[in-house]
Amino acid sequence: MDYSFDEDQEAYRLLVRAFAAKTLAPHYQRDDKTAEFRRQLALDMAGMGLTSLRIPAEYGGQEATAVIAGIATEEVGRADFNATYLIINTALISDIIVRNATHRQKSAWLPGIASGETIPCICITEPGHGTDAASLEVRAVRTDTGWTLHGEKTSVTLGMASDRAVVLARTGGPGARGVSAFWVDLHQPSVTRSVFDDLGSRAIGRASIHFDATPVAADELIGAEGDGFVSVMQGFDYSRAIIGLGCIGAAEISLEEALQWSRDRVAFGRPIGTFQGVSFPLAECATYLRGARHICLEALWRKDNGLEHSAEAAMAKFWAPKLATEVIHQCLLTLGHVAYSSDAAIGQRLRDVIGLEIGDGTAQVSKLVISRHLLGRQFAP
Ligand SMILES: Cc1cc2nc3c(=O)[nH]c(=O)nc-3n(C[C@H](O)[C@H](O)[C@H](O)COP(=O)(O)OP(=O)(O)OC[C@H]3O[C@@H](n4cnc5c(N)ncnc54)[C@H](O)[C@@H]3O)c2cc1C
Repeated sequence: MDYSFDEDQEAYRLLVRAFAAKTLAPHYQRDDKTAEFRRQLALDMAGMGLTSLRIPAEYGGQEATAVIAGIATEEVGRADFNATYLIINTALISDIIVRNATHRQKSAWLPGIASGETIPCICITEPGHGTDAASLEVRAVRTDTGWTLHGEKTSVTLGMASDRAVVLARTGGPGARGVSAFWVDLHQPSVTRSVFDDLGSRAIGRASIHFDATPVAADELIGAEGDGFVSVMQGFDYSRAIIGLGCIGAAEISLEEALQWSRDRVAFGRPIGTFQGVSFPLAECATYLRGARHICLEALWRKDNGLEHSAEAAMAKFWAPKLATEVIHQCLLTLGHVAYSSDAAIGQRLRDVIGLEIGDGTAQVSKLVISRHLLGRQFAP
């Protein structure tokens, strides 16, 4: 058993840390204030290979392992939590395309994602269906040249900025088997979008997207008709562990700030870290973070080694965002009044990580997966 990264993984971690500190961190709070997505961010991330981690080399990608994608997300999460969405989206979507699309489709679609020129999003949630995604109602209607899409998707990460979307739409009867996946051009006049005024991750432009008879060509179907739901959901197993590491990165940097403050800040004639009331909660934060980080990395390691990893990814997804929220909150309290100002990044981190307690599935869904794994389908909820 080996608990450390190998030499290449460690070198990569340091490389991404330096890039993120120099190129991403200075924009974290500025982008929140303008609440606008900068295209340059995608190009900067692409320049570091961060939008092409899971894309095969023949389509312009890094062909990185899932563990490497996790390392990158944790390091980016320390500097600019919102930039992790670009890793999560591109890794999840390119994984779906790699597993299900034809060579011709991959050649046409993946290089743009890799270069940062095509910003992709994924459209599953609808106003009437979130957790119960298999009941989705957006319809794809057959035409002579392909399909037209009808209806509204909502809560789409990068929905305002995206050029293309993986859209799940109903092509058949009820349930998951009636759903197909399409690669849709969002720059069409029949596509309209509106942005949410969000609590956090404001620069990401979470949006509703309305399709009013939006044409989709026959060769923009991903995989076989009726396979869309299953092929998209399989990708989530892996992205959930990556999400966990992004949240942990944001919590780690907050903990480092709180530890430094505990050494520097003096009260009653002593550094505040010498009070157990200050240091013990931070000791607990460090312990829990280490545990959650191990689960995330184990899920990714299992994926890389072809092992079943749904339960581990679900554990990572329910625990890490919740824990990160709690840790950042505790650290904010340790920093005192100076942290309760928008001048400090820590309050923004708190607002931002809460979003991923919901996005990509809530804790309840993850616990459903874990329960079924533990008990067997017939004895679980
Ligand atoms: C920051 C963010 C980013 C997102 N990005 C995307 C995206 O890119 N693409 C996309 O398609 N969607 C995205 N979403 C939407 C997200 O996937 C949904 O919000 C999520 O699946 C939950 O759906 P809902 O919000 O409609 O809640 P609902 O499904 O209405 O659930 C409401 C509450 O009931 C609970 N609940 C529901 N069913 C059960 C059950 N069977 N057992 C126990 N509890 C249950 C839920 O856990 C939740 O607490 C994003 C959301 C957020 C906040």
